[in-house]
Amino acid sequence: MIFTKSEAIHKEALTHIVGGVNSPSRSYKAVGGGAPVAIKRAEGAYMYDVDGNPYIDYLAAYGPIITGHAHPHVTEAIKVAAETGVLYGTATPHEVKFAKMLKDAIPSMDKVRFVNSGTEAVMSTIRVARAYTGRDKILKFAGCYHGHFDLVLVAAGSGPSQLGMPDSAGVTKSTAQEVITVPFNHIEDFEKAMDQWGGEIAAVLVEPIVGNFGMVEPQPGFLEKVNEVAHNYGALVIYDEVITGFRFMYGGAQNLLGVTPDLTALGKIIGGGLPIGAYGGKQEIMEGVAPLGPAYQAGTMAGNPASMLAGIACLEVLQKDGIYEELDRLGAILEQGISQAAEKYNIPITINRIKGALSIYFTKEKVTHYEQAEATDGELFSKFFKLLLHERINIAPSKYEAWFLTTAHTEEDVNKTISAVEKAFKNM
Ligand code: PMP
Repeated sequence: MIFTKSEAIHKEALTHIVGGVNSPSRSYKAVGGGAPVAIKRAEGAYMYDVDGNPYIDYLAAYGPIITGHAHPHVTEAIKVAAETGVLYGTATPHEVKFAKMLKDAIPSMDKVRFVNSGTEAVMSTIRVARAYTGRDKILKFAGCYHGHFDLVLVAAGSGPSQLGMPDSAGVTKSTAQEVITVPFNHIEDFEKAMDQWGGEIAAVLVEPIVGNFGMVEPQPGFLEKVNEVAHNYGALVIYDEVITGFRFMYGGAQNLLGVTPDLTALGKIIGGGLPIGAYGGKQEIMEGVAPLGPAYQAGTMAGNPASMLAGIACLEVLQKDGIYEELDRLGAILEQGISQAAEKYNIPITINRIKGALSIYFTKEKVTHYEQAEATDGELFSKFFKLLLHERINIAPSKYEAWFLTTAHTEEDVNKTISAVEKAFKNM
């Protein structure tokens, strides 16, 4: 396979864009380096690079593209937006319609507010929680990712009773001191940390199903315990559903799991591929947001008509009968095919799958905790990633990132993928 044009683009990108990429996760650094393939066009389940190579795509742009690339209904909505003005800075009927759709889908949100990214959504929920509780600290879980604002770029200290350490240069020590990080799915560590800091914590922030060290479900009772303990200490619970919202069913992971937070952050899928974030929650908490309340939160692009119309169109596609059942069916075929291929070639893998989202970890261990995901074999993954690329399968260059099926993937695509994976395993 030839990547000459991608390589030339990357070389030039390096002279203009820091690191040659606009988000570090797009770099191939974690898989041994090289020029990331530069994509020129995408349609349905396929992407086409500048050298003319087609790929079956499981990256789905890190999650948003659940209806496949350039879905006709979403594309039509974007055309309407382009032709009727993409930004007014005023009230629109679209934002009202869309807010109602989100509320209907996720009933724990009495009121919503649109922002422009998942980062902004989570950041805003924290400000609102701090405003509501009058407290400063937050508690989060190791391995969950919540965006790139300072407060969530804080790593765990050296034990559950330790306050955090900056996880990025530029994050101040005083910011890190506002964050407690404990392992996901470890109830005892969580309870210990809450016993020590609970009275100072504004909110417990959690991905209800983790999407950021692969797809990891909460252990039975974990989220219920998080709610119970947080509320006992007067802290709020925030679900970061930026990845999980509308991923497994029409609504959030909270609908699937039957647990409800005080506040929810959304992003990715709800924009139909356009920039978006949204947050919402209980009426009395959301009433703290300006202009009603003292917690300021604003945005020039917030609720822009293009993102609203694309988001509405995307959700309309997802409302159709059988959508999630089909994602689940194809997910099961993919999981089974990959598992069988791994067995055939003696490749140690574990698959975590929830409906149309699956993670393939290079380990024989079951992965329920972050430490296990961390310990998986990055070198084997790197080999796999490169071999798959040559088999024209595009996944994220990260050993954790999930594969996302879209409504555009067919059984034929999935079978082609299984053959490609089998070839890759054979050559490993
Ligand atoms: N929360 C979660 C759970 C995410 O996965 C992400 C992005 N991967 C974010 C927040 C940040 O979203 P964005 O990149 O849109 O700012």
